[in-house]
Amino acid sequence: MNYNKLFSKLYGAVGDADELGQVASYIPELANINPNKFGVHLTTLNDNNYRYGDSDEKFSVQSIAKVLALVLAYKLEDEKLWDRVGVEPSGTPFNSLVQLEYDKGIPRNPLINAGALVISDILVSYFDEPKKQFIEFVRKVSGIPEIDFSARIADSEKSVGYTNAALVNLMKSFGNIRNNVDTVLDFYFNLCSIEMTCKELSRTFLFLADYGVCPYSNERIISISKSKRINAIMQLCGFYDEAGEFSFKVGLPGKSGVGGGIIAIHPNKYSIAVWSPRLNKKGNSIRGMKFLELFTTETKASIF
Ligand code: GLU
Repeated sequence: MNYNKLFSKLYGAVGDADELGQVASYIPELANINPNKFGVHLTTLNDNNYRYGDSDEKFSVQSIAKVLALVLAYKLEDEKLWDRVGVEPSGTPFNSLVQLEYDKGIPRNPLINAGALVISDILVSYFDEPKKQFIEFVRKVSGIPEIDFSARIADSEKSVGYTNAALVNLMKSFGNIRNNVDTVLDFYFNLCSIEMTCKELSRTFLFLADYGVCPYSNERIISISKSKRINAIMQLCGFYDEAGEFSFKVGLPGKSGVGGGIIAIHPNKYSIAVWSPRLNKKGNSIRGMKFLELFTTETKASIF
């Protein structure tokens, strides 16, 4: 099927959405983005590529990068990882402090900020040069050597990172952060600052549609079982406290970021990245979610 025609038809339908939302402004640099940008790129396992709109423009992937940090930490730690972070949907906002105190510093899952901070701590412990070694991993998985952090976005987030500092300090007080809190925060802000185009994002995540094997290099990144589990975590926890809504309407595992990006995976078929910066109140891209809902409805294909 040639999805290019379908994409332009669906863009027309999505463009009419009444409630268009706001770009994230709590990170100053994210507020500077043109709110009307829209891009989509789909890559199939046999490397057919379909696109629409601003799909070759870089944007801040933000929390989507948490999945890649999780993949690397899970690969290194195996099942020990789950002693320090859970696999349950949180049902609270991405930066919530509330559950952490009740749960004695163990985050509900690795995709909320608290969980990604624990994952950051694990990677900081493992590597001599954590940021360098992490970005090299992302470049290997994607097959794209140019992918990089944005110092501009990382600095901007650091300048207002009070809630993340509170999360990491609370977990440190419970013994679930081993390294210096500033080192962990620096890694985390850089992780969230990675920039990719929709095309790069869709290609980077294709290994999760291929049961853990990078289709460009044929290299196994993670085992079949771990790949299944990462997709399961995305399905249950990938959209803050709107993961149920995304499952219900789209029916694919995925992850959103406050930069307006969404990645979604159809195992054994494709990965699709959508970018539209206006967010709903839960922090998810309004047009991105709507577009994917219409896409799986029109193609009559989801994992369910
Ligand atoms: N860097 C963002 C934060 O910590 C990530 C938020 C997101 O994309 O969910 O607030």
